[in-house]
Amino acid sequence: MTQDLETTRWDLTKLYASPSDPAIDVDMEKAKKAVYRFRETYHGKIAEEGFTSQALRTSIREIETIQELALKPYWYAQLLFAADTENDLHKELVQKCREFFAALRHEILFYELEIIAIPDDRFEQLIEDTALAEYRHYLRHLRIFKPYTLSEGEEQAINLKDVTGKQAFSQLFEELTASFRYRLDLEGEEREYTGEELLAMLHRPEAELRERAFTAFLERHGENTLVLTSVFNNIFLDHGGECKLRGYDSPITATHLTNELSQETIEGMMTVSEENYPLAQEYFRIKAELLGMEKLKNCDVYAPVAEVNRTYTFPEAREMVLQAFGAFDPQMRQIAEGFFKESRIDSAVRPGKTGGAFCAGLTPSLPPYVLMNFTGNLRDVATLAHELGHWIHFTLAGRQRLVNYDAVLPMAETASVFGEMLLTRQLLSEESDPKVRTAILCAKIEDIVATTFRQNVLTRFEQKTHDKRKEKLLTPEEFCDFWWEENGRLFGDAVEMIPAYRWGWSYISHFIHSRFYCYSYVFGELLVLSLFRKYQEEGDTFVPRYLDLLASGGSDSPPNLLARIGIDVNDRTFWKMGYDLVRDLLNELKTTLRDQ
Ligand SMILES: [Zn+2]
Repeated sequence: MTQDLETTRWDLTKLYASPSDPAIDVDMEKAKKAVYRFRETYHGKIAEEGFTSQALRTSIREIETIQELALKPYWYAQLLFAADTENDLHKELVQKCREFFAALRHEILFYELEIIAIPDDRFEQLIEDTALAEYRHYLRHLRIFKPYTLSEGEEQAINLKDVTGKQAFSQLFEELTASFRYRLDLEGEEREYTGEELLAMLHRPEAELRERAFTAFLERHGENTLVLTSVFNNIFLDHGGECKLRGYDSPITATHLTNELSQETIEGMMTVSEENYPLAQEYFRIKAELLGMEKLKNCDVYAPVAEVNRTYTFPEAREMVLQAFGAFDPQMRQIAEGFFKESRIDSAVRPGKTGGAFCAGLTPSLPPYVLMNFTGNLRDVATLAHELGHWIHFTLAGRQRLVNYDAVLPMAETASVFGEMLLTRQLLSEESDPKVRTAILCAKIEDIVATTFRQNVLTRFEQKTHDKRKEKLLTPEEFCDFWWEENGRLFGDAVEMIPAYRWGWSYISHFIHSRFYCYSYVFGELLVLSLFRKYQEEGDTFVPRYLDLLASGGSDSPPNLLARIGIDVNDRTFWKMGYDLVRDLLNELKTTLRDQ
């Protein structure tokens, strides 16, 4: 822990000089004025007979300008807070921006509602006009929500109440869990650790330490069960109530509509995943053997294999990732290099900093930022490749209009997971030492297990708890039991879960921030495994089509975007193909082990 990893801090002054920069208020004021003007010009007009396609186009352009103005201070505040959640100035600014954003939304809510209210035949006429060509998908997608949309007054009330409702609970969850400190004895020295540092210890070679660290982490969450259970219960109840109010048939439906995917597609994908749980169990048994254990505990899943337990400095990790990207396409390397030069990544571990990693795509005119907690293991190098993939995705999609900029969730992980795969193949191509190859293959398989099987478990848990929450308030024990049961299905008799893992559900922030987010990981990972096979088969001709897929951002639905490159998401054999590739990796691992 004393080694200098040469990690970096991001430079947010490209956005604003400081949290007290007067330019923040100036931008907010400009956005406010533009919103009032917008409301004056368009309120009550959109669904009217004489409103032309040209006028509709102009209004969308104005909305985009307003959002560009408002998103800058909003994102600035979010990023400041993520980098240091304990600074009161940051908290204050986040709250101010959140309230500001809610106030703006309040004023322009009418807009989407009026678009939804345009009679169907007239809408079809309008949208035929080439003036709206680049907004067709955006407009059609908006109207998917027509049956579930409430009146303007009701929508405004929900927005207003969300600030003190689900958003406040999210904030409480974030602040509480980021405030946890853990005292741990490591190699005879007791000191304080953050949760991120404890979770990183799951990658340490000492089994005793892994179990102690994970147990300490989980038990701290268990000690705070009063608050955490309350946060979960309220967020889930809030969601259930809103679904009922809007007329959704199930808690997951809104996510499907947003993702532009059907229940059939996702259920098919999840069933295929469950059919392949034995594949994960086979890996866990191999891993137990590798570690010289009778049976794996779930805190051993990420343990390093063999003595390949090296630490990478951040500049080393950067070079590895750049090389992997460059081998695929020199343009990709170039984009990624610029990103480091501009100091847009915060990679250091600090107390109070948000855990995990993310890439924030702000707007097409403001390049993205990456936050991660780099602790120096191979997994962190993969995380860097992952977040850089996002960065490239956002950069390429920067040619899209703001409303088409963000890929929908299930497609949002395409470039990131693909980036990780590039890194793995690059590492394997350079490595002849079977011990190191074993380590690389294990890391990749573990990653796939975490992104497909584990996320499948998480989604099943979420489905179950949302369904149960409709009936009654859930006790901590019930959350724990559902969690235990779903994880048990994946681990089977191949892995023993440590007792404190009962609390494993209570630190998953996706459950709090974004309903049914996790199945998008399964979708994204399996999609990439299949895309990668295409790349291996087709070679360089695949590259421009892949980059084109990324550059299309969220300009069409996933089934349509993928149909363009010959993929049918409703075909279960497509999902099976992804797992066939996992089987290939497992066989590659077995061959490597025989060679030793
Ligand atoms: Zn990601």
